[in-house]
Amino acid sequence: MANIIVSACLLGFDCRYKGDGCLCERLAALAEKHTLIPVCPEQLGGLPTPRDPAEICGGKVIDSAGRDVTEKFSAGAQAALKAARLNRVTTAVLKARSPSCGRGLIYDGTFTGRKIPGDGFTAKLFLENEINVFTEDELDELENYIINQYK
Ligand code: SF4
Repeated sequence: MANIIVSACLLGFDCRYKGDGCLCERLAALAEKHTLIPVCPEQLGGLPTPRDPAEICGGKVIDSAGRDVTEKFSAGAQAALKAARLNRVTTAVLKARSPSCGRGLIYDGTFTGRKIPGDGFTAKLFLENEINVFTEDELDELENYIINQYK
């Protein structure tokens, strides 16, 4: 059995900027065999829900109203890492393309839907701390990984 940090919105918590969630049923079903630990870094960093959308631009996080929310995103990433360490987590499944949770591809900072290579703040911090990060688009890879790690 694995302890896996999961972006809370993927487990159906209404923590996204619009105030909704995005339940991934296949991912949630892993709770039958593993311990899924829901974490929303943006809420942990002190941001309200709902909130203005934000994107990474030049290493900072700027919301659609032009506010610099980098400190909140950094604080949320640190809090998520703390939760991972408390639970001895080495695997996470984080929401693709989010400025906090995205891994490998994020929105480009123009609020136009364009994407560029990059990691969200929490995904980046997890990777720097040797936590394997998957997205909800990589559940086949995740299942193969945990079958091999925890058989
Ligand atoms: Fe979901 Fe992560 Fe955004 Fe929270 S910060 S709503 S967990 S994608």
